[in-house]
Amino acid sequence: MEQIRVKNEVGYVSLVGFMEDKFPMKHGNYFSLGGYHVLNMWYENFKHLNLNKEYIDAVKFGDKNIVIVDADIPDDYLNNEPCFTGGGRTNPEINKEIYEFMFPKFKELKCMCCESAKYVSVYIHSFLSNRSGISLSRGACEICSRKILLNNKFEVSQEIYDKLQKIWHESPSEANLFLAPYQLATHIEVDDWKPDAKLLSRYAKKRVNQNYYGIIKISDLKEQENKNENENEEK
Ligand SMILES: [Zn+2]
Repeated sequence: MEQIRVKNEVGYVSLVGFMEDKFPMKHGNYFSLGGYHVLNMWYENFKHLNLNKEYIDAVKFGDKNIVIVDADIPDDYLNNEPCFTGGGRTNPEINKEIYEFMFPKFKELKCMCCESAKYVSVYIHSFLSNRSGISLSRGACEICSRKILLNNKFEVSQEIYDKLQKIWHESPSEANLFLAPYQLATHIEVDDWKPDAKLLSRYAKKRVNQNYYGIIKISDLKEQENKNENENEEK
């Protein structure tokens, strides 16, 4: 890691079309500056600022990557996580330096592929998502290289991941109502209790009406079921 000044000369730029025209743009194309791959800024945002200066302040990692730190660039024009797409990939040691520089608050942790670091160092390969309920992604840590399976931002075992993926593929609409990922993740047994479909759908709708798309806990559903039973008995 080395503080450097790079020439204000754009080299390559990726060619993805973006409809957005409000600056700073949240997504854009990656680019190279002064011969280095830029990890923390989109080309559109850089171009929009039209900086009239010969050199840009940056921190160099390895021999090809930079993180721009120039005082003339507003913070919201910079990305707070690195994008390695298009030639930015490097090795785990350099990745570690990059992540520790960009996320100093997680520096004390053993790695940044854990829940407390919000899995910032995990490169996601695929994504299957229902609006609520099951949201699967799979990746590897850019620092320690371990394989990681996530559901709703919680790490799950291979067994649970396969189970959820099966439910997702077999019936995405039902999966939308089968909202037990957190419990599966924390190994609470759910196989012996299949919630009543009507109850599940009613409860899910209620949550949607409250604009809450998060995880429905099996315990909440059980409570609801008990309530319904008691009500029926009273009638
Ligand atoms: Zn890791």
